[in-house]
Amino acid sequence: MTRPRLVVGNWKMNPPTIAEAVALARAVVSAAPAGDVTMAVAPPAVALAMVAEAVRGTRVLVYTQDVHWEDKGAYTGGIAASMLAGVAVGTIVGHSEVRRDLGDDDIRVARKLARAIAAGLRVVLCVGESEAQHLAGETESVVARQVAADVAPLRANRERAAQLVIAYEPIWAIGTGRPATAAHATAAARMIRRTLETAGLPGDGTPVLYGGSVTAAGVREFSTADGIDGALVGGASLKAEEFGAIVRAFA
Ligand code: PEP
Repeated sequence: MTRPRLVVGNWKMNPPTIAEAVALARAVVSAAPAGDVTMAVAPPAVALAMVAEAVRGTRVLVYTQDVHWEDKGAYTGGIAASMLAGVAVGTIVGHSEVRRDLGDDDIRVARKLARAIAAGLRVVLCVGESEAQHLAGETESVVARQVAADVAPLRANRERAAQLVIAYEPIWAIGTGRPATAAHATAAARMIRRTLETAGLPGDGTPVLYGGSVTAAGVREFSTADGIDGALVGGASLKAEEFGAIVRAFA
């Protein structure tokens, strides 16, 4: 089955200033290859509006790195999905660093996902096992458990599921320079799709990305991997030329 291909750059808490974020966004536009791979950047919240302005009218889309699970109210520091209209077309949800640092569990991730989709945003839902779970051979059970819980609000709503992409991101591979193998990512993607089908959602039609130490030098492992439709890229997305090369590998 042919699925849409997507590469998203997660800039995390970089670069240090809004001006540099805008400059990076412009460089990403200049380095963007032609083709039908969807490409997006996810800058820090403070730079979203300026980056959105810098890429407007180009093929580079803007995602945010997280959204709040409520739509308004007394949530200091929160950004509601509905506030992103005109600024971001999508959001990352459930990134392992947010789960670790802000205490997101699967219940909260599911609520964020539901809010984002209801607001019309595209969602990249991140799932993946810890190093200890990996070593214990629990990858597939962990991923299945996370996906089942996180997509619960979409259950059997195939229309809304069209806004969903899942990123398989083994935690032990993020920022370590030790990516998973293609075989490992393919097995996880297979389990993700099986779990979606069980939830009444289109497993075969849902794009699955790989994330974790993807670089231009190593991207072929994943761009040619069975069942992998793109990448979520952290460190390497801060170098426009390298990010462009990663996108090109999925074309
Ligand atoms: C990420 O943060 O989602 C990620 C994959 O980071 P890196 O590419 O740096 O491993």
